[in-house]
Amino acid sequence: MRVVPISLPTPFYIGPVNVYLIAEDPLTIIDTGPKTKETIDALRAGLRKAGYLVSDLRRIVLTHAHEDHCGLARSLRDEAKNAEVFVHNWETGHRHSRLEYEEHRTLLVRAGVPDAEIERMRGLYEYMRRYADSFGDDEYTSLWDEAELEFESGSLRILHTPGHTPGSCSFLREADRTIIAGDCVLKRITPNPVLSPDPIDPTRRFPSLAEYLVSLARLRSFSPTLVYGGHGEPIRDYEELFHRYFRAFQDRQGQVIGLVPKNGVTAWDVALKMFPHADDVHRFLSVSEAVAHLDLAHSEGKIGLELKDQTELYKPLT
Ligand SMILES: [Zn+2]
Ligand SMILES: [Zn+2]
Repeated sequence: MRVVPISLPTPFYIGPVNVYLIAEDPLTIIDTGPKTKETIDALRAGLRKAGYLVSDLRRIVLTHAHEDHCGLARSLRDEAKNAEVFVHNWETGHRHSRLEYEEHRTLLVRAGVPDAEIERMRGLYEYMRRYADSFGDDEYTSLWDEAELEFESGSLRILHTPGHTPGSCSFLREADRTIIAGDCVLKRITPNPVLSPDPIDPTRRFPSLAEYLVSLARLRSFSPTLVYGGHGEPIRDYEELFHRYFRAFQDRQGQVIGLVPKNGVTAWDVALKMFPHADDVHRFLSVSEAVAHLDLAHSEGKIGLELKDQTELYKPLT
């Protein structure tokens, strides 16, 4: 099975995104890049180099529904006529309008984010939406954990690896223990467990960091020899990266617990203390990071949590 990585430009801070062509029947691309002219031009060039055209694609598989990964899915599908689009159905919120805004707003209010900031974040959503087409429920096929994507000479096993987003999926080729992991595993940065409504009960928060730790351990159980991430170079030493991530999470948790004063604190306050200079989308990501670590510390019984006037206050244990 020939896996052809193609690096595509994005207008985002993260830099280029990696998409992966499985150069075999049925011709499949994993992730698409955002919807920009530069990206589609680069994708066409990458496909041509491998001997293909967009119209040859039969399957468009998405690791998750962030704009830098899914933006061109509809355009590619339309151009390739009968290509089928696959994404995990826990990515629903992203597919329609990035996230269902009201559900998300509730989570931000609960995290103590001031109204003016929430409005700014809303503006950012609108801006990000330009980089991806939305999908209706009847326009995609859901990816299922442990199902196989069959190819002429083998298959890729679908692994539901939630954390970065609720519906993030990775793809395992058992023959050589290679994994395509999207933003679940990135070489140079620790992925953000993005603040999301729980897909089963959207009034609740998805326990993103707790789920993420399970996903990382699950990937480890396959002893991967090579992991292709959504950004940056592939990872040849997953074991080293796994331990590095865990040390980083432990350090961050220690830091977060240290920022919880006697009278309590919101996730927003903690985010401002951890990342005082974050702006734009990083302001949202810093809240996400704070909530993820505070929630995990709470679920591990290390700090308390109480609801006060719609806002959650994290407190030391008495
Ligand atoms: Zn992502
Ligand atoms: Zn990404």
